[in-house]
Amino acid sequence: MPLPSLTSLADEARIALDTVADRATGLWSPSVRLGVTGLSRAGKTVFISALVHNLIHGGRLPLFEAQASGRIAKAYLEHQPDDAVPRFQYEDHIADLVDKRIWPASTRAISELRLTVEYESVSAWGRMFSRGRLSLDIVDYPGEWLLDLPLLGKSFEAFSREAMELAELPVREEVSRSWRQLAASVDPDAAADEMLARRLFESFSAYLSACKEDARALSTLPPGRFLMPGDLEGSPALTFAPLTNLREGKARPGSMRAMMERRYEAYKTHVIKPFFREHIARLDRQIVLVDAMQAINAGAPAVADLERALTEILACFRPGRGSLLTGLVSRRIDRILIAATKADHIHHESHDRLQAIVRRLADRAIARADFSGAAVDVVAMAAVRATREGTATRGREMLPVIIGSPLTGETIGEDTFDGEAETAIFPGDLPESPAAFFRKDAAPTSGDPAIRFVRFRPPKLERTAEGVTLSLPHIRLDRVLQFLLGDQLA
Ligand code: GDP
Repeated sequence: MPLPSLTSLADEARIALDTVADRATGLWSPSVRLGVTGLSRAGKTVFISALVHNLIHGGRLPLFEAQASGRIAKAYLEHQPDDAVPRFQYEDHIADLVDKRIWPASTRAISELRLTVEYESVSAWGRMFSRGRLSLDIVDYPGEWLLDLPLLGKSFEAFSREAMELAELPVREEVSRSWRQLAASVDPDAAADEMLARRLFESFSAYLSACKEDARALSTLPPGRFLMPGDLEGSPALTFAPLTNLREGKARPGSMRAMMERRYEAYKTHVIKPFFREHIARLDRQIVLVDAMQAINAGAPAVADLERALTEILACFRPGRGSLLTGLVSRRIDRILIAATKADHIHHESHDRLQAIVRRLADRAIARADFSGAAVDVVAMAAVRATREGTATRGREMLPVIIGSPLTGETIGEDTFDGEAETAIFPGDLPESPAAFFRKDAAPTSGDPAIRFVRFRPPKLERTAEGVTLSLPHIRLDRVLQFLLGDQLA
């Protein structure tokens, strides 16, 4: 039987106690903790802002039964229960989206927001006990931090070896070259050198950041804080990097390897474990946002990379098996939704195709993670719909197009946009079968992108005759809400 090696018993006991305490208080004031994650720029900030705005302003949500049937009396923000976690800056983000019509600043670290919903119960029995009240604690955090979980089970040696194997893949070979050259020149047994450690860290994290660049759209690899340091920005806790040329056996005391190994272990103890214990272990529900279109456009290697990242992210929520930490973390999460975002960039005829691609991306992860006891679903959605649909004629052909205001400075052909003028574009079709994106023999760079991707400005909100601003338009946000919250508001 494998030993419960990943965390100390003290950690497990604390997680268990926290969990019991939370549940006990949950009896008095029903609350649901919803985790919102995804790799950077997947759409977390926009999603949370739109979700809250639609609930507070009674948005058009026909598939969200509690809202559609008029049972939601009101929804409002309240003080969050965790003083140690920064508040999600909802008001600033809405001012950007609605008043200035600019996209808000993206997630850089963890934050939280409490939304309380008052509703009428469906059953006569429920209504006898006055109005129902549900507190929804939304926890926003970078998906990059979840990619750290596998490190808990890995020695420094294994971490170094795997980092190098990934860096040598054809699609990463070029961006990782300068780090690989620097790492190859280092003798791990030589005396520890702080300046060299810093150079190695800088070179390694520059390579990880370069992986994210548009054309490559790779999903990167751990350590997650190298890309999204949060409050550890500039901290010495991050000054380490994988090494090559490691001899068999233990590190020599006082050597470069000994120093890197110690910092790597400290990162696990002081950064990764507390994050899982204090935040992930307390989640009830989880939505994982995925910018699949960016990966699709970058070609099959980026899709494969996204699939790998998604597999690792989903493994953080699976029940039991192997790691005691993951067992405790995920036992409570009973609904997981994987959502392909920004579906307003394609015509609705392609929405189901996008959903099929993401389902395929998640399939292997779901099979491997064994989510027995948790419901898992996939959706293609847009938290904020920045476009509307139309048709254009080209010769005798009728083409489905999307219409919106491209962001200031966007260019299409000869035209440069000013953020006001509208334009119609034919975004392209996703193929009927997702198989094309999952070919093993795919070349590192693809040919023409599948989708013409133009960044649009957030939409102008309509006002009613009384001057009331309507809520943000969306695609399938109601389906998302029904899956994540429907049963809690019954
Ligand atoms: P985060 O890093 O996960 O917090 O990502 P954001 O929520 O900041 O989203 C990153 C960018 O994606 C935004 O600045 C928008 O340009 C775009 N985006 C996100 N969600 C949507 C959406 O629903 N529709 C459209 N058209 N663009 C979106």
